[in-house]
Amino acid sequence: MNERETNARLLAPPFTLRARILTPLDSGGTAYFADGRLEVGVDGRIASVGDWPLVTSRETEQEVVDLRPMLLLPGLVDLHAHLPQLPNAGLGAGLDLLTWLDRYIFPLERGFDEGVANALAPQAFRAFAAAGTTTAVLYGAVYESSLDACFAAAEAHGIRAVIGKVMMDRLRYDPSVEDSEVLDLSLRQSQNLIERWHGRDDGRLLYAVTPRFAVSCSAEMLRESAALAAATGAYWQTHLAEDRHEIDEVRELFPDAIDYTDVYDRAGGLGPRALLGHAIHLSQREIDRLAETKTRVAHCPSSNLFLASGAMPLARYLEAGICVGLGTDVAAGPDLSMFSVMRAGAYTQSGLRTMLSETRPVLAPLDWLRLGSLDGARALGLDDRFGSLERGKEADFICVDPSVTAPLPGQETDDPADLMSRLIYRGRPDMVRGAWVRGRLLDT
Ligand SMILES: [Zn+2]
Repeated sequence: MNERETNARLLAPPFTLRARILTPLDSGGTAYFADGRLEVGVDGRIASVGDWPLVTSRETEQEVVDLRPMLLLPGLVDLHAHLPQLPNAGLGAGLDLLTWLDRYIFPLERGFDEGVANALAPQAFRAFAAAGTTTAVLYGAVYESSLDACFAAAEAHGIRAVIGKVMMDRLRYDPSVEDSEVLDLSLRQSQNLIERWHGRDDGRLLYAVTPRFAVSCSAEMLRESAALAAATGAYWQTHLAEDRHEIDEVRELFPDAIDYTDVYDRAGGLGPRALLGHAIHLSQREIDRLAETKTRVAHCPSSNLFLASGAMPLARYLEAGICVGLGTDVAAGPDLSMFSVMRAGAYTQSGLRTMLSETRPVLAPLDWLRLGSLDGARALGLDDRFGSLERGKEADFICVDPSVTAPLPGQETDDPADLMSRLIYRGRPDMVRGAWVRGRLLDT
């Protein structure tokens, strides 16, 4: 079979892949098959996974593609990123959050209208897939038609996406709307988008009601947005306790709240459908409250280092029972790669131990794989559908070439933890060779 025929077989199921396979498991722990088999049925679900050469079903036996020595991993879940901000990724290092937003971000978001979204969103989804991300949870801009363009691009591309129109009724960048109208308009537009897109393509596209953060939203907007999410089953996403200046502003804006987390609690926002970005600077009370309400946290360590926002005590949150996934927070995070996020997270944990007296053990490479895949799906309440390579799940997976991460030719490893360690600490953009959602190869 020549390369073209091979590639054609990989475009859509059914097929069976022979490769190295590494995946976290729903039941805990990790499975590794040094010579493995991933069988994807015509329905886009994993029909079987295990050691080669166990018998495959008749459906896929004609469609075997040998990808050895490539490695298959579950598709990565980016739990927090900003679609309009991609063009400025990597710019503005050294600024604090609020200055950086003013200088590099709001001008970009202001211009992200339908036309710009039509041009940029398809490129953005290809870039996410090229980095190994098969599920992206995204903030858009404030314009309804711009969000339609983003959803349409995601629908056409094939990536899994949760997207929301940013809601702001303070410090806004859209002067065409009167102050007195912005709350009602923003709610109505969000509702329209939910009706059009939430659950589209059997749940591949989902909506997140997206008040930006407490600095740019009134108490009423926070409350009404949480009510809209609860009434429609959409997610509710925002930012929490990213930066010290931001926390000071929130204290002044919401003097009655016990702390920042309480601002969202009073709005009715906390719970298993809430995705809170960052959540770095929290008191024990806030940590306990997030755990108690089963609120999800999107940990964005590369962003936190880039903007010098702080170091999230991840091990402490996990010990408290908070469900945490990983996010790039592009463009505050400079890189779309979730492997880069894992690296930044691992260095942050090392820094907490060496410089800030953290005594809890650091996470191991396979823990980071779980955080970037299965735990991201769990944060979305969708771990029964994807996040690991297990029979019956939808076939969201990526193919990586670990050989490019070896320091010298011939110095490759076949140990699962070592393989993952190299992907995290010596990752390269070109190591991701393909990304599939429901067994369909994504454009990169
Ligand atoms: Zn963010």
